[in-house]
Amino acid sequence: LPAASTHVFEAADVAALLPTPGAADNKYTRGVLGVAAGSSAYPGAGVLCTGSAINGGAGMIRYVGTAADAIRAQYPEVVVQEGAAPDDLHVQAWVAGPGMGTDDAAHDLLAAVLATGEPAVVDADGITLVGSSPGLVRDRDAPTVLTPHDGEFARIADGPSGDRLASVRAAARDLDAVVLLKGNATVIAAPDGRAWVNRTGTPWLGTAGSGDVLSGLIGSLLAAGLEAPLAAAVGAYVHGVAGQLAAQGGPPSSLDVLHAVRPALREIGRG
Ligand code: AMP
Ligand code: MG
Repeated sequence: LPAASTHVFEAADVAALLPTPGAADNKYTRGVLGVAAGSSAYPGAGVLCTGSAINGGAGMIRYVGTAADAIRAQYPEVVVQEGAAPDDLHVQAWVAGPGMGTDDAAHDLLAAVLATGEPAVVDADGITLVGSSPGLVRDRDAPTVLTPHDGEFARIADGPSGDRLASVRAAARDLDAVVLLKGNATVIAAPDGRAWVNRTGTPWLGTAGSGDVLSGLIGSLLAAGLEAPLAAAVGAYVHGVAGQLAAQGGPPSSLDVLHAVRPALREIGRG
């Protein structure tokens, strides 16, 4: 894709990019994702984010947040490594931020995650922390995906202005990160100027926890090896389809959206 161009993904584009395990793959090669999300105050955000990464197809999840009890209770398949140093876990990618809080301990955990050399998606409380310490993102070599809603965007960049695509492109360049600005038509920009406008979704996605499902999904795609801007654009597309499917049963909760991720992947198909 040429730089400074804007793209709209169709189902076939997404199907061609969705990772599919081959005969030689195993749980490690399929993608090990580290999750630093949730806290004792907000365990649900960690549960939604982790569940979405599972449904998105991560080969293995290593959990380092402080909602370990809730994660153990919900997902026996997750390897809980509460208190472990992120750099020791050797995952392929990270998702950090949802419900992690913004206290010193959360800051230190996020800083440790972002000090690793692995791609990372940062959302919610993680974005608030980045707003106070943008160097956490700017100074890293590995790709970062930031997934703000409008209020979070204002903590890390100017705007968003009425020209959301221009705002997100400027932020991506300034922070040297992929920025995904959520909303009715989610817009995504890479630091090199490539951009995407997402056309799937429904206003019913405006429900508590919906964004936690998106970040977990993007994390699973990053862990599978998708290039960061493509993981963001594919994740937004799949999340939107999941929202549409979930809304067919009436006003969906974010748990309904989480449960619709696999049906959405099935509907989109795989290349
Ligand atoms: P969050 O605010 O972090 O829970 O994320 C909300 C999610 O719902 C994002 O994926 C948004 O793009 C989506 N969303 C919120 N409001 C709307 C809307 N009016 N139309 C479409 N999607 C929406
Ligand atoms: Mg959110």
